[in-house]
Amino acid sequence: MDALMESQILALWETGRDRGPIDRGLHALAVAMPGVDVASRPVGWRTLSLLRLRSATFGPRLAACADCPACGSAMAFDVDLAALLDALPEPPERAAQESAFDAHGAAWRLPNSRDQANAASAVDPGAALDLLLRACRLDARDDALLPRGAALDDIEARMEALDPAANIELSLRCADCAHEWTVVLDADACVWEDISACARGLLLDVHRLARAYGWTEPQVLALGPARRAVYLDLADRETTP
Ligand SMILES: [Zn+2]
Repeated sequence: MDALMESQILALWETGRDRGPIDRGLHALAVAMPGVDVASRPVGWRTLSLLRLRSATFGPRLAACADCPACGSAMAFDVDLAALLDALPEPPERAAQESAFDAHGAAWRLPNSRDQANAASAVDPGAALDLLLRACRLDARDDALLPRGAALDDIEARMEALDPAANIELSLRCADCAHEWTVVLDADACVWEDISACARGLLLDVHRLARAYGWTEPQVLALGPARRAVYLDLADRETTP
């Protein structure tokens, strides 16, 4: 996976501000992997691809924080994305063809990112689950009853076994009270936060160098990080008495 270029990061930030979390992740992958129908791939494929893109562009160390649900202490922790990616099995590339299975009187396929984005627009979690189940049921009428209870648990477990990267949980332990809990790793949000922070930093650099030297945004970005840092330092020295 190639790293995103700075001009791509700025464009992703600009167009992503008005999009939902899943669309932001898909858009970043569409830019990084031109020609691939990223929305039709299983949810775990999106997660793994986003973590690879994040690692290539911003490095494999992910700094995060969470509040302990028992005592409320804020806890900072690091995720080693390289180790995490090594440990996760490769998800199927195609939601329908490679992963269909029969269960409880119907054939099912894995949810893909398009299904998940559609479900995210539902009015409540129950309606979202129904939308997802209807999209993934391959050979039944639309008005056929949806699975509930143990049948639903079984179908969800089979989907999770086929695509474990769709739901990555991190185990945490509070340093203050030793409480142990898990948090879900949200790859869409992680990548978007990095894109936003990087874009804001780039815009600030452009602003400072445009003021100091009269350069345009493309001229500043064309400098590359090392030469830009030197010019920023020189511009600071001139303005600092
Ligand atoms: Zn605690």
